[in-house]
Amino acid sequence: MKSPIFKRPLRVFYSEDYAVGEGLETVTKSKLLAKMITDGKVSGVELVAPKLATEEELMLIHSPEYVEGVMSGKLKNLAAGVWSKKLLKSILATTGGMRDATNEALRNGRSGSFSSGLHHARADAGMGFCTFNGLALAALEALKKVKSVGILDLDAHCGGGTANILKTNKRVRLADVSVCSYDSWTPTAKSRHFIEVVDKPKSYLASVRKALKTLEGVEFLIYNAGMDTHEKAGGMSGITLDVIKEREALVVEWAQERKVPIVFALAGGYTWSGLTLKEVAELHLETVRAFNA
Ligand SMILES: [Zn+2]
Repeated sequence: MKSPIFKRPLRVFYSEDYAVGEGLETVTKSKLLAKMITDGKVSGVELVAPKLATEEELMLIHSPEYVEGVMSGKLKNLAAGVWSKKLLKSILATTGGMRDATNEALRNGRSGSFSSGLHHARADAGMGFCTFNGLALAALEALKKVKSVGILDLDAHCGGGTANILKTNKRVRLADVSVCSYDSWTPTAKSRHFIEVVDKPKSYLASVRKALKTLEGVEFLIYNAGMDTHEKAGGMSGITLDVIKEREALVVEWAQERKVPIVFALAGGYTWSGLTLKEVAELHLETVRAFNA
């Protein structure tokens, strides 16, 4: 039976500021996904525009020098592309989207934001297409209302930025299952943190189950739902659409059964291995479907 904490409609955060027409997939694909929602590919989902992340809240997760450099344009080469007013607004919107989605999930059980470019950003620098760490911001926002937060990172790459910012926070548990060792990190507290780089597609879902087990007891779950694990979206041969569908169902059922509010971020998913951007967006739609089920 579904948890009564999951109330309808599913509200997902997105605005036109998210998508910058030219550039990395991190900043372009959300627009395609939003169109699929407004075209009714998944019914009953509401898109809501978030408030931009503020300088003050970004300084809770990043160094003042780094935040000022990005906000002022002094830092020309951002991880997500060359600085422009439009790119900055996109970064602030997608980061703010994670904060607003967190509050929506705390109210109504579940939410998400079509945000990418988060988990490699560390306290004093961007990295790997990620400028500000919206996952870390979401965790601190949730901790205003709950005692503990879990971050389940199932992007193809490890979330070294999130670990850099949060791994010493005793109220945060990190569980990271990747298929590539890029940006891997060392847990400081094995009881609180889990990281595994999978090397065979057959063991992928077992590792996801193991990761979820380590999050038992958290009061809020942040899910970095990368699709770059998929064999044709930048990931590992053998991780098919069926595996992705099973993964999304596993995560959402885990939260439903425990009545743990859950929020998702889009995260990675690329055209490097043969998919069109539309096909990548269709993969991300699986996360929305699972949350809306
Ligand atoms: Zn990735």
